[in-house]
Amino acid sequence: MGLEDKIRKVVPYVPGEQPKESGVIKLNTNENPYPPSPLVREAMERLQADRFRLYPDPAASELVSELARTYGLDESQIFVGVGSDDVLAMCFLTFFNSDSSILFPDITYSFYDVWAELFRIPYEQIPLDENFRIRPEDYMRKCGGIVIANPNAPTGRLLPVPEIEKILKANPDCVVIVDEAYIDFGGESALPLISRYGNLVVVQTFSKSRSSAGLRIGYAMADPKLIRYLSDVKYSFNSYTMNMPSIKLGAAVLRDSAYTEKCIAKIIRTRENTAAALRKLGFILDDSCANFLFIRHPQIPAEELFRGLKERKIYVRWWNKPRISSYLRVTIGTDSEMEAFLSALRCLLTDRK
Ligand SMILES: *Cc1c(COP(=O)(O)O)cnc(C)c1O
Repeated sequence: MGLEDKIRKVVPYVPGEQPKESGVIKLNTNENPYPPSPLVREAMERLQADRFRLYPDPAASELVSELARTYGLDESQIFVGVGSDDVLAMCFLTFFNSDSSILFPDITYSFYDVWAELFRIPYEQIPLDENFRIRPEDYMRKCGGIVIANPNAPTGRLLPVPEIEKILKANPDCVVIVDEAYIDFGGESALPLISRYGNLVVVQTFSKSRSSAGLRIGYAMADPKLIRYLSDVKYSFNSYTMNMPSIKLGAAVLRDSAYTEKCIAKIIRTRENTAAALRKLGFILDDSCANFLFIRHPQIPAEELFRGLKERKIYVRWWNKPRISSYLRVTIGTDSEMEAFLSALRCLLTDRK
């Protein structure tokens, strides 16, 4: 066995581009177009560089206690990590440790299969129905665990809480992770179910609705027993995941929920206006419950639009993958960004005639 054979080799997740050139309209990674609350700037000014010589609080208590207050939970029901990617990775490592396959949709957040491969977890990708809907019945069978993004990415489709409850009820012997990265943009959270279902883990993030992708904060909420298992794995891997500025600034984000809600309302309004304008241009799209739209044009290949927009410095997301290669995923930006996006599309459509 040679050197190469002893190395763990993986095909990594590919995030959306973070372009270096200036003047780009960035609608490709579902970031929030609005800055975080002014309270974050104030908290930043209070940071003491001298304290950085010390390790941060390994339990990130200041952040956890603000989360507990925000959601009316006990601190023992919350786990925080370096973005929900870190939290989800820890959940995969902790909760998916059997020989049975875990289940998730064929079209969903494309990190799930990457973690399954990385941690050598057997998995099965369950096809969404022809309307890109999750069928709860498909998840009512023996398995090693379940992961559902709700609203799903990149479709933006929401699974109602009663449907999630059916999946939870049918699978008392395995952990069901509900990844709610986009729940604040129009969905009902499964969070209230954690007190009744000891197999439910709800994961959320500061990266989208809370305008703080750069701080890297995510969190899981679940029964205290599951949170303890999760913490045990984290402390076996890296005790100090959350850095001092993120703990402080993340707590400041949570102290201004009025600001967060105002930004979310603006994004929802822009989303609905953009959806209507796109339909007028002949695009086909379903209602989205997230901060992005998943769109296709019946005549024009998505790849052509993707490239045309990019030439005009407008970045959106396109995947050359089965079932979704005719779609673009477009993040909702500010009103003026979406105006620029729509006029670029109008040009592309006219040029083609
Ligand atoms: C953005 C996203 C995440 C990860 O976000 P973090 O920035 O790591 O918190 C997780 N799941 C889904 C479905 C996402 O879209």
